Amino acid sequence: MKSKWDVLRREVYKQYEYKCGVCEKTDTRLSCHEIWDYNDTEHIQTLTGFIALCDLCHHCKHLGLAGILARQGKLDIETVINHYREVNNCTLLEFQADRDIVFRQWEERNKYEWVCDISKYIAYLPTTTKFTNGRIVGTRRLVDNIESTLP
Ligand SMILES: [Zn+2]
Repeated sequence: MKSKWDVLRREVYKQYEYKCGVCEKTDTRLSCHEIWDYNDTEHIQTLTGFIALCDLCHHCKHLGLAGILARQGKLDIETVINHYREVNNCTLLEFQADRDIVFRQWEERNKYEWVCDISKYIAYLPTTTKFTNGRIVGTRRLVDNIESTLP
């Protein structure tokens, strides 16, 4: 039986015409990436939608994880960086500046406990996910765990 998440995932791929939502690559494996809105005053992150991403664009979205995988010898980080530069038509220095900004932002956001509002998509999440009224109280790390539990 197809899970509700699987149905949603397939709908997203169809919506993006089976292309990567960033670089528009076709004939590639796609991942369904969650889009979050971050309220940095109230520390509420809201799940607002999903985007189909190719493997390389997905690694660009999870640059911290990509770095860990690269250090474990499971990923060539140069390929990821070159993809970012190609898609954004930027220099290595510009990539490094962008990376520093998002890493600083990630560090800053990790100082707080975040409320995760997933109410819009609650029906699609695995029933094992623990929540109250569509809100998960926890840190960003917890959210990353939730994402990784989605098949
Ligand atoms: Zn892509």
